[in-house]
Amino acid sequence: MHHTTQETGHIVAPKNRVKPRLLLHACCAPCSTAVVERLAADYDISIYFYNPNIYPVEEYRQRRDELIHWCSNVADVPCIVGEYVPEAWMEQIRGLEHEPERGRRCNRCFRLRLQRAAIYAREHHYDLFTTVLSISPHKRYECINRLGLALARHHGIEFYAANFKKKNGFKRSIEISHTQNFYRQNYCGCVFSRPLAGA
Ligand code: SF4
Repeated sequence: MHHTTQETGHIVAPKNRVKPRLLLHACCAPCSTAVVERLAADYDISIYFYNPNIYPVEEYRQRRDELIHWCSNVADVPCIVGEYVPEAWMEQIRGLEHEPERGRRCNRCFRLRLQRAAIYAREHHYDLFTTVLSISPHKRYECINRLGLALARHHGIEFYAANFKKKNGFKRSIEISHTQNFYRQNYCGCVFSRPLAGA
């Protein structure tokens, strides 16, 4: 049996047991760094890159390739790349194109990505799943956790509810990104969040 803490619901490996397998949804290398650093001692982590929201495809490839490179050459964790179907994302957010960031469009966007992570985790026998998204100061961790927990219940798997901003998580991700010389994007990912969108 795994132990589950009251506060976060996350599973901690008992002594002398192998670590629980955690599928960690990730949007880019910079946001993954501090989260992997924080969780690696307690979990057997696999990164899951599933982000059909990212526009344009060149930006998608840049974030994906940098993450793959960091996973294999620095972090030493497996990196699973989900399919890239921007049309499926567009379908999800239809009617919410002009919502402000942190609004309803973002909730749909989180939901799509977390849902795919939950399904993948369940199908591939992970013990739990979570996402790095809450490390961003631009994202509401409460929404992410609410969605993650609901999807976990629906798909029969555990969700690690977290606020990775805490304990200077975001600051730490910037420090590591500097030392790794990462590309740091200046927008969240979708076409509507780009600095010149609508201009
Ligand atoms: S701003 Fe970010 S979280 Fe919101 S819809 Fe666009 S890509 Fe998704």
